Amino acid sequence: MGKTLIFGHKNPDTDSITSSIVMANLETKLGNNVEACRLGVINKETEYVLNYFGVQAPTLVESIEDGRNVILVDHGNPLESVDNLDKLNILKVVDHHPVKITVAYPLYYRAEPVGCTQTILYKMYKEYNVEVDKKIAGLMLSAIISDTLLLKSPTTTEEDKKAVEELSKISGLDPQVYGLEMLKAGTDLSSFTIDEILHLDAKKIDFKEVKSMVAQVNTASIPDVMKMQKELETGMKEIIEKENLDLFMLLITDIINSNSQVIAMGKDAGLVEKAYKVKLENNTALLEGVVSRKKQVVPIMTENA
Ligand code: MN
Ligand code: MN
Repeated sequence: MGKTLIFGHKNPDTDSITSSIVMANLETKLGNNVEACRLGVINKETEYVLNYFGVQAPTLVESIEDGRNVILVDHGNPLESVDNLDKLNILKVVDHHPVKITVAYPLYYRAEPVGCTQTILYKMYKEYNVEVDKKIAGLMLSAIISDTLLLKSPTTTEEDKKAVEELSKISGLDPQVYGLEMLKAGTDLSSFTIDEILHLDAKKIDFKEVKSMVAQVNTASIPDVMKMQKELETGMKEIIEKENLDLFMLLITDIINSNSQVIAMGKDAGLVEKAYKVKLENNTALLEGVVSRKKQVVPIMTENA
């Protein structure tokens, strides 16, 4: 039995990547034989973080042999994990999303309704009395800033705020200054194709019967991204056809002002109008104050579907 593999979700974000590294650090300190992995390419924001702290990216895995011991971080949903998850031996899950998994054996499952997996991991370090060094603190801080958009997303809890305060002391980083630089690094779309942009942070979600894809891109300037509206729409149409979707929502999220411009395509695009009481003009509308897919899209869209 090889090392236990630790990984976050497909289309990994900063939380998934850094949580696998941090969880591997914690497990190693607890005497367990583990390796941090990832299920996809590193995004620009995460690249900035790893470079900043001089940390290597986790090993990319394409597939994992049946029966292997694994630890999941930042996800528990089989749809967002490796394809043969049901054939793997899940030892632990540490996550902050709805619980979507059932297995026939006992496992350590730690889910808390906080803004970021790293907020939970930070608490676990304390519980196990393991020291959080400067680098680990920086990685944790980065992920919390990323997931909560600098503590402005409605997913933010008091625990996230407290963690950021303590982690900024340990890491010596000013979360406002460092955080904005990090978030901005993640908004550089110049090297991506349209299809890549649409898949950077895309989740397949069914709003009741409405088969949907909700993609999100962060930006410091909505008009800059909207210059590509035509091309984005063409790409969205292709994905709708290929994946047989009823709806594709692209959220272009302004990280400075905490709003999202939505582009909605597909036969059920009207659901966006109904849910947010907006009128789509030319397939698009501004959703004021909307930044969180988990809290401000999934529940509202499901309720109105
Ligand atoms: Mn994530
Ligand atoms: Mn997360």
